[in-house]
Amino acid sequence: MPSTKGQSQLTVAIFLAMIIGATLGSVANAFIESEHWIQQFVIGGALGTLGSLFVSALKMLVVPLVFVSLVHGVTALGEVSKLGRIGSKTIALYLVTTALAISIALALATFIEPGAGDFQQPSTTFDANNAPALGEVISGLIPSNPIAAMAEGNMLQIIVFAIILGLAILKVGDSAQMLRSFFESANGVMMEMVNLVMATAPVGVFCLITETFATEGFDVIFQLGAYFLTVILALLLHFAVSYGLIMQLLARINPFWAFKRMLSTIGFAFSTASSNATIPVTLKTLEQRFGVQPQIASFTVPLGATINMDGTAIMQGVATVFIASVYGINLEMADLITVVLTATLASIGTAGIPSVGLVTLAMVLQQVSLPVEGIALIIGVDRLLDMLRTAVNVSGDATVSCVVARSENAIAPPPKEHKQRETG
Ligand code: ASP
Repeated sequence: MPSTKGQSQLTVAIFLAMIIGATLGSVANAFIESEHWIQQFVIGGALGTLGSLFVSALKMLVVPLVFVSLVHGVTALGEVSKLGRIGSKTIALYLVTTALAISIALALATFIEPGAGDFQQPSTTFDANNAPALGEVISGLIPSNPIAAMAEGNMLQIIVFAIILGLAILKVGDSAQMLRSFFESANGVMMEMVNLVMATAPVGVFCLITETFATEGFDVIFQLGAYFLTVILALLLHFAVSYGLIMQLLARINPFWAFKRMLSTIGFAFSTASSNATIPVTLKTLEQRFGVQPQIASFTVPLGATINMDGTAIMQGVATVFIASVYGINLEMADLITVVLTATLASIGTAGIPSVGLVTLAMVLQQVSLPVEGIALIIGVDRLLDMLRTAVNVSGDATVSCVVARSENAIAPPPKEHKQRETG
């Protein structure tokens, strides 16, 4: 396991890579139209290739890591009844934090009125790719073919299969000892693979950030400034106030201590814009830097990456108010409540991958009879907001994991850091 010092150095290197990448990318953006070689050889060529190698390396770990660590986690639980308790607490907390996030977003957007300027309704259409309905998600929870579920990366189905397998190993007891040890050592090996990929993070993150900043036209941010800033403000409020209070009051962890230790995870989420691809890093951070026991983290983290998207819900709340106002449609209280409910439930069936929030936004807009084409209005600034909201999504997963772990007495901050916190 890398030392705490090694981890801090890695975090600093990731942040430096982000800053340098954003600066170089913005400079390259100014020349990308006139100097074609920049796009062809540097941005799309070298950086694009290295960046996608890095994302593939992270994604490569997700399915085997989630499967192995969850089976290991369940077998380490000891009692079957604990699982039901942990499951219900986790799901309830995920739903409550998302509902809180979107309520903050709706309140702020109603107050700031980001759509009050002079906006043209879009002439383009937005192709609404519908997210699955909750009923479909529930009926598809049990994989008829677990190998297919793994091949498709269907996280909820993988979670269900791993839990059933883990429970069976627990029930069989002594004669399944060999399997139990197998998953324990496989989990250790997977964690080492995460370390290997993380060691390349500064380069990977640099490539991803430079490419994004070089290819996105950021002038559109100025046109959509009020919308953009309202989303960022709501994200910040939820991150600092809601998570800060939850960390302090429910997880009984100093929020500054916690946020500092989450920085590299936040950096990964920001650069990849994918909660799913960040799962290995979130798991590692919770287990090794927060001392959350694997039986909790291995369950809460993959589940959170799929069903808990507070940052996404925030964007959807602000976007709904913004689009309604541009189209001159008044949202009643009942509509706002519908938005809270739909945005909270819509994320359940969709994986945490880039831009998926726009798909679920289409569902939210349809529920309150707003034109789905309105999404074309905000799409220009969505990439940057996607990076920011993914960072909040992942922080939400980590916060809830700490609360659940604390309530189960399954969190022990690493001894050295714990001591410093108590004496300092
Ligand atoms: N990219 C987000 C995530 O992976 C989802 C979204 O808002 O599009 O969590």
